[in-house]
Amino acid sequence: MRVSIFGTGYVGLVTGACFAEVGNDVICVDVDADKIEQLNRGEMPIFEPGLEAMVIRNRDAGRLRFTTDAAMAVEHGDFQFIAVGTPSDEDGSADLRHVLTVADTIATSMESHRIIVDKSTVPVGTADRVREAVDRRLQQRGVTTSYSVVSNPEFLKEGAAINDFMKPERVIVGCDDAYSREQLHALYAPFNRNHDRLISMDVRSAELTKYAANAMLATKISFMNELANIADRVGADIERVRIGIGADPRIGYHFIYPGAGYGGSCFPKDVKALARTAHDVDYVPQLLQAVEEVNDRQKHYLFNRIREHYRGDLAGRRFALWGLSFKPNTDDMREAASRRLMESLWEAGASVQAFDPKAMDETRRLYGDRAGLTLCDSPEAALEGCDALVVMTEWNLFRSPDFELIRSHLADAVIFDGRNIYDPAVLARLGFQYHAIGRPPVT
Ligand code: NAD
Repeated sequence: MRVSIFGTGYVGLVTGACFAEVGNDVICVDVDADKIEQLNRGEMPIFEPGLEAMVIRNRDAGRLRFTTDAAMAVEHGDFQFIAVGTPSDEDGSADLRHVLTVADTIATSMESHRIIVDKSTVPVGTADRVREAVDRRLQQRGVTTSYSVVSNPEFLKEGAAINDFMKPERVIVGCDDAYSREQLHALYAPFNRNHDRLISMDVRSAELTKYAANAMLATKISFMNELANIADRVGADIERVRIGIGADPRIGYHFIYPGAGYGGSCFPKDVKALARTAHDVDYVPQLLQAVEEVNDRQKHYLFNRIREHYRGDLAGRRFALWGLSFKPNTDDMREAASRRLMESLWEAGASVQAFDPKAMDETRRLYGDRAGLTLCDSPEAALEGCDALVVMTEWNLFRSPDFELIRSHLADAVIFDGRNIYDPAVLARLGFQYHAIGRPPVT
């Protein structure tokens, strides 16, 4: 089948590569000419496990092309996927500028029937706005052609995106006409071989489903972080509590880890956007507001622990920071908890020596040569001459380190762990002071 995809970010590029992988003829379009040049050279603008090999394989086979030529893409694809960013606007609502620009771009050269598929995360009612934008442009051009707008939100997780796309837990197709539904079913058939994972529904429900999923996941995290704060104050260990509650199958062990606050490009903006939608229809979303507030507060948790430990005297101190990306297996640092922590440490006059397996280039892009930040080549190099170690991302590489070596590099044998990956008893035995989230401190 012929597929065109607008946007070559985490979602668009993975979608394009995976559709090409199963034999489709795919064109990916982006307005960022540098990105397209990079992709045509076989270089990935983002890190995602398995992506590079898949892109190169399909590009070399001629099934995956990259261009800035939108007209060519509109002519090519029976499916026109919109996979551009929908960042938060000032009032928290989703900024639909890029989505509506793509709708207009498609209508600017569309001559015959196209299925426009919205894969970006967009508020309820966006399909109508896409239709309005398309109709406006078609009318202006004096072109009459049928087309349809489908909502097909994406659920891939950065760091496991290829696997999530190739073996989806579900594919949501929000669609109001039988022809488009059939076509979407056919397009997704190769990913749907084991059992039918396609869930069809109306467009508005599909749009809301994506926000509902992300808001639920964010709620689980904020709930655990709230509990961690209570555990701190009553002298309980949130990790024991986690094990205790997860045993109930109605609760389960998935996604109930306390930590330094959720980040990334999706949860923060999607919780905000859903809350904004609620306000717009005169409903006060108390739970969503609390989820966001708890998360905001949680992003200060580790800094407060560090400040308390050093009795407010942070000026001139140096901290080793392990992990910069908002979660492991990605280079994405959007809304990462590490950023809030670094910025607080700098403000307090401290400096940071950081290491991340994949997010170093992104850190350089964000902070350049900022005073107070040294980027190091290895976890060990980051420890050199530091007062304490702070772990912000639970990369596998950090899970079982050489604690003797850590101690030999640090001025104080102190570890602040924003992801609860170490065993307090082991660290106590080794003579460390260990501060984790919602766990009694080891001193
Ligand atoms: P991204 O910022 O990584 O990529 C967006 C791309 O779109 C950029 O390369 C940008 O240059 C391009 N673009 C902007 N305007 C364009 C235009 N007019 N024509 C062509 N390209 C254009 O974004 P992302 O993380 O891939 O997210 C895309 C959407 O998918 C968002 O709505 C997001 O909420 C949603 N989503 C993201 C994830 C994720 O894990 N990143 C998961 C599920 C859903």
